[in-house]
Amino acid sequence: MTNAKKKLHTCLYCQNEIKGRSDKKFCDANCRSAYHNQTANNQEHYIRSINKQLRANRSALKKACPWGKATVRKDFLKQLGMDFKHITHTWKSAHRNLYFFC
Ligand SMILES: [Zn+2]
Repeated sequence: MTNAKKKLHTCLYCQNEIKGRSDKKFCDANCRSAYHNQTANNQEHYIRSINKQLRANRSALKKACPWGKATVRKDFLKQLGMDFKHITHTWKSAHRNLYFFC
């Protein structure tokens, strides 16, 4: 065993000792989130990931409705990669139907 493998394995965020797999970088999901949210670079990464999902949503809508307005099952859109948590705006019709936009 090399010296590097004997080295104490610590969390990148809180510096506590990590138990479990040797390739783990954080104690738990909370430390991972806190670490990734602490730098501007990671904020950019977060924004990019949202834009990526919005593009995926637009792509799913385009595949499901290639000729524009259509009625499509929510599950079908989810299968195509649509994530309904990532939208740009909503609109409620006079008939109280709620429309989601990307
Ligand atoms: Zn930690």
